[in-house]
Amino acid sequence: MVAAVLDQLGRRPGVLRLSLTARCNLACPYCCPDDHDPPELLSPGERRTLIAVAAGLGFSSLRLTGGEPLLHQELEALIEAVQDLRQPAGLREVALTTNGVLLTAARARALRQAGLDRITISLDGADGASVALMSGRAHQGELLLARVLEGVRHAREAGFDPGRGQLKLNAVIDRRRNADQLLPLARLARELGVELRLIEFMDVGNRNGWSPDQVLTAAEMVERIGSRWPLQPQGRAHHGTASRWRYLDRDDDLHLAVVASISAPFCGDCNRLRVTADGQAYTCLFGTAGTDLKPWLRPRPDAAGLRARLQALWGQRHDRYSEERAHLQPGAFLPHAEMAYLGG
Ligand code: SAM
Ligand code: SF4
Repeated sequence: MVAAVLDQLGRRPGVLRLSLTARCNLACPYCCPDDHDPPELLSPGERRTLIAVAAGLGFSSLRLTGGEPLLHQELEALIEAVQDLRQPAGLREVALTTNGVLLTAARARALRQAGLDRITISLDGADGASVALMSGRAHQGELLLARVLEGVRHAREAGFDPGRGQLKLNAVIDRRRNADQLLPLARLARELGVELRLIEFMDVGNRNGWSPDQVLTAAEMVERIGSRWPLQPQGRAHHGTASRWRYLDRDDDLHLAVVASISAPFCGDCNRLRVTADGQAYTCLFGTAGTDLKPWLRPRPDAAGLRARLQALWGQRHDRYSEERAHLQPGAFLPHAEMAYLGG
């Protein structure tokens, strides 16, 4: 039975974002990943224990991420290994966020067979030049774009149905770099029949040189796209990160979504716990220090001890950085953990 553990602001657990590696095959300038993993990565068995304990506390949605999770060779095995945790009061959903470059037909099929429910593919531009700029891979834009679009096709052919929310596109918009891609990206997603989620550029980590003037607000994004194709607001689901809009000129119920974590933060109903590839738990994307869970995972798993630690961690939680950001004095900013380490 799921224990009702509430944090200091009355928030319930819901989503476990588990990073499988801090490494990436791209170098997006808003993320700036490492080229190596931290030492002491969790083993597949330790990850399964963690997922099982977290599911018992109410983290019913597992989101696998990175770095680039498709670089992780045991991804499919992990997905398969958690299938027996599925139950109404346990694990209910397993999702993956990927840049899609390595999503071959065989890999997409293997992920589906292993039991993956949903894939979100990140793509920040609709032409080669823009993809090159946003992926940090000069001269490879055309190739990467083609690979990601193939990845979208492979996912669909493997059974991930965009009409049922099983296949989506993510795009980070930086006012200085790819604001010109808004309409092209929306057009591309409409042609593909896939929901596009536009994400405000966030001040995660300490390397991406973020400044507020780089944020194109969700409201501006919606206005620009809405002036080309009529949109009807659908609101933000409780605990969700995205506000959704329905395209009125289509009869297939296609939506556009925007994630306004800077201009309209949603800390109030945040239900996410993040665990890095080396077992550091963070309750906030903008956290400064994690809690090492390894002492409860090795040398042998201590499920009861881990449960108590996670319960205490969640129970003490009171972070709401995104809501506080605007009121912080410049000297009050502490270093954040890096995005590719945390996993988004
Ligand atoms: N490599 C995978 C990918 O790109 O989808 C998974 C890891 S990535 C860290 C997870 C998500 O975080 C991606 O959708 C990415 O676009 C987003 N992201 C990374 N840095 C960001 C930033 N500074 N602001 C907003 N979103 C960011
Ligand atoms: Fe890699 Fe994803 Fe970060 Fe881009 S956002 S560098 S694809 S981890």
